Amino acid sequence: MAYRAPLTNHHADGTLCPAEHKHTSSGKALHPDCPGRAYTQAICSCGGWEMKQSGKGYVNESRKRHLSGHAQGLKVLRDLLRLDGS
Ligand SMILES: [Zn+2]
Ligand SMILES: [Zn+2]
Repeated sequence: MAYRAPLTNHHADGTLCPAEHKHTSSGKALHPDCPGRAYTQAICSCGGWEMKQSGKGYVNESRKRHLSGHAQGLKVLRDLLRLDGS
């Protein structure tokens, strides 16, 4: 099973800041309706991991680390589940 943890950008009130809201490299909003990107969020489809930080690069790094853990951990996880079930 492959897990996904897509990155999403949000405004301070929690609403989605969509891709068409452009920002300068410093994060300043260029879209007239955009109050500014407050944080970036990633939620893994495994349901056991999520992250919410103002630094997009940091969320992306953590996300990749978490997903690579899934790739390595699947066999271990299956063994654990089998033990739990016995
Ligand atoms: Zn926005
Ligand atoms: Zn996960």
